[in-house]
Amino acid sequence: MNAQTITRWMEESASAIGESRDYLTQLDAAIGDADHGANMDRGFAAVVSALDGLGDQPPGKVLIAAGRTLISNVGGASGPLWGSALRGAGKQLGDEPEFGPGDLADALDAALAAVVELGAAEEGDKTMVDALAPAVRAYRSGVGEGGEVVQALDTAAVAAEEGMRATTPMLARKGRASYLGERSIGHQDPGATSAAIIVAALDRAVRAEG
Ligand code: ADP
Ligand code: MG
Repeated sequence: MNAQTITRWMEESASAIGESRDYLTQLDAAIGDADHGANMDRGFAAVVSALDGLGDQPPGKVLIAAGRTLISNVGGASGPLWGSALRGAGKQLGDEPEFGPGDLADALDAALAAVVELGAAEEGDKTMVDALAPAVRAYRSGVGEGGEVVQALDTAAVAAEEGMRATTPMLARKGRASYLGERSIGHQDPGATSAAIIVAALDRAVRAEG
């Protein structure tokens, strides 16, 4: 895997988020302020444009540029959180021109760690962490057993989606939805939903490598 893998991941993310923009907005309308679709769509569209003009850079640098772009283009909580995630993953990858399955596991760990460092959410708090954390674990255990990257990413995508669905009965303890208290129960978390979309996009991006 290389810089192109990352660029493809960002492009797949941008187009899938664009398609789900209204859905993400609806989810955020129920327990937030109805801007999650717009925030993520604007952010990832900006990432695709920024990467377009980046030239030849190692994958770690591409991720850092993507993270920086999200931070400077998205006002909502999700911008800094995803921005830090991608930047953390990029720093972890460093300056090598290529990365392997284990490097990707370390980068995904670093992304999750950056989100937790910034947002202080734990699993069960009804946030993007509820989709990301199980995905990172599933990928790590998939490649740890000597498995193929794409198979491991398939299991990660399934884990993210299960984590996303599991947010519905949760009481929100972080972010805007937490202001609703008990009324946050019974709604799927928008950030966990976009996180599952982004994990699925990574799976497709790596799969496209063939
Ligand atoms: P805002 O809440 O500022 O309007 P968005 O609507 O774009 O920002 O994003 C909301 C999502 O951000 C939530 O659904 C949740 O998944 C995620 N989120 C909010 N606060 C945190 C946090 N402290 N840690 C992790 N994720 C969070
Ligand atoms: Mg919002």
